[in-house]
Amino acid sequence: MAREQEVDVVVIGMGVGGEHVAERLAEEGLDVVGVEAELVGGECPYWACIPSKVMIRAGNLLAEARRVPGMDGETQVHADFAPVAARIRDEATDNWDDQVAVDRFTRKGGHFVRGRARLAGSGRVEVDGQSFAVRRGVVLATGSRPQIPPVPGLADVPYWTNRQAVSVKEPPASLLVLGGAIGVELAQGFSRFGTAVTVVEAIERLLPAEEPEAGELLAEVLQGEGVTVRAGARATGVRHADDMFRLTLDGGEEVTGQRLLVATGRRPDLSGLGLDTIGLDPTARALDVDGQMRAAHGVWGAGDLTGRRLFTHWRCTRPRSPYATSWACRARPPTAGPCPGSPSPTPRSAPSA
Ligand SMILES: Cc1cc2nc3c(=O)[nH]c(=O)nc-3n(C[C@H](O)[C@H](O)[C@H](O)COP(=O)(O)OP(=O)(O)OC[C@H]3O[C@@H](n4cnc5c(N)ncnc54)[C@H](O)[C@@H]3O)c2cc1C
Repeated sequence: MAREQEVDVVVIGMGVGGEHVAERLAEEGLDVVGVEAELVGGECPYWACIPSKVMIRAGNLLAEARRVPGMDGETQVHADFAPVAARIRDEATDNWDDQVAVDRFTRKGGHFVRGRARLAGSGRVEVDGQSFAVRRGVVLATGSRPQIPPVPGLADVPYWTNRQAVSVKEPPASLLVLGGAIGVELAQGFSRFGTAVTVVEAIERLLPAEEPEAGELLAEVLQGEGVTVRAGARATGVRHADDMFRLTLDGGEEVTGQRLLVATGRRPDLSGLGLDTIGLDPTARALDVDGQMRAAHGVWGAGDLTGRRLFTHWRCTRPRSPYATSWACRARPPTAGPCPGSPSPTPRSAPSA
């Protein structure tokens, strides 16, 4: 059996939350192990905030250019998605390679382990055969997963989540979008590149969690740009054949699209973390933490896993709020001064000084 290695802290999950915590603790001189199953930086820089905003910014430029005729001159706009896909691949994500982020962490003194970690009792973490005993604490920062609604047939068809949507080389001819804020922003992005988009939202208006006026205005804007908005329409079934998705709505109507994007929210996934080995409930909806982000003795949570405000920017922005998600900020010694601004996802392709 492999010998157990003693360290100060193990951070499980090196997305935006975990990466920030692990780097800060390493900078403070602690002996920190950061464990990541996929890419250091997590969802935000590779499949979420950053590539989606590259796409949206490019779409905004097209929309602005199309407003020129009749306002202040003439323009002819030919949308081309290829440079956008190239920017996402080469500049935003380093072709989905996290070496720069790994190096940045190890240069700060952290020890990086690629693998899937789980708790193995109080103060113990296992990663694919390696074993760590922690002196000070474990930070859980394993993020969230897309929440897939129980639409009959959905599990059997090759639908997209945000990951496939932001990794495409060219936009689809037509796109069905199920749900939420992420769906709406990608819907507009693709539509501005010529995709015929239909947004299906089960609730009566878009963005039901926001003010009613916001959802209504958004529907108006999208429709003005040629997006079909079906608010108050529940999907009751889906089929996929001949490179076409067919979504049945309650009432029997069918809408079709070459691709189907499911963006009906995200939720933390606590299973597989070994929470039961420290007396926590692995079936809970999110990791329950107190005002100091503590989930149990010697165990802290950060980021989406806590189920509170699933945004990258919801980190140091509210240091006094019980919902603030930066364990490192809260762990700062009182003499360290105020918590700095929200840590933006760190650049992939440029090493920090
Ligand atoms: C399309 C889209 C657009 C978005 N746009 C924005 C935006 O514009 N602004 C904004 O503020 N937020 C945005 N968000 C939300 C933002 O992406 C998340 O809030 C953020 O990524 C959460 O960071 P996190 O560190 O908690 O989790 P994640 O980024 O999910 O990272 C968790 C990491 O843990 C790893 N992991 C999981 N289990 C294990 C394990 N057992 N062992 C080791 N590693 C593990 C995963 O591989 C992952 O890398 C967007 C989300 C999406 C989907």
